[in-house]
Amino acid sequence: MKLLVVEDEALLRHHLYTRLGETGHVVQAVGDAEEALYQAGQYHHDLAVIDLGLPGMSGLDLIRQLRSQDKTFPILILTARGNWQDKVEGLAAGADDYVVKPFQFEELEARLNALLRRSSGFTQSTIAAGPLVLDINRKQAVLEEQPLALTAFEYRILEYLMRHHQQVVSKDRLMEQLYPDDDERDPNVIEVLVGRLRRKLEGEDGFKPIDTVRGLGYLFTERCR
Ligand code: CA
Repeated sequence: MKLLVVEDEALLRHHLYTRLGETGHVVQAVGDAEEALYQAGQYHHDLAVIDLGLPGMSGLDLIRQLRSQDKTFPILILTARGNWQDKVEGLAAGADDYVVKPFQFEELEARLNALLRRSSGFTQSTIAAGPLVLDINRKQAVLEEQPLALTAFEYRILEYLMRHHQQVVSKDRLMEQLYPDDDERDPNVIEVLVGRLRRKLEGEDGFKPIDTVRGLGYLFTERCR
């Protein structure tokens, strides 16, 4: 998933960037609200982590702006301990959940994963389609009860397509799931990765869940639950 992290404390920002990256997300980490608004206008994010205490425009105003621009991704706020008004105002401004500083990374991760699950309409930590089951927490795909050996990039593409099942997903959108910036992107990479994924997924039983929609992108045709 592509995450936007807005935190002005450089050390914490770097820590979040690194740890969230290690758990399989593409992370854009910025230090102020203005930069966050710019990035949100340029890219499609799946979730934002926003510190409320920012220099310049506040985290609350940032959330209001994002919501007024019809950005509907889940927002997790970081608030200072003992400041309950912050949480209430943050939630009222359009945030979905909060974590109180200082926090254990595992707590942040658990809340973030719960938000991502809910936002894509899945309440379990698995997504299933026919013989294929994804374990989102373990980043593991199982096909006909056998673990599939997927690379990190193949897994990310599969999870994204399954979360957006029965919708056309563009190559650009998939590239955003793999790379933080424009300059590293190459649409040919997506074609190669999807080709590899298909070879791993398609068996003799006719299971063929990824369609190409010419000129538009890819479609995960099976209903996921
Ligand atoms: Ca701060």
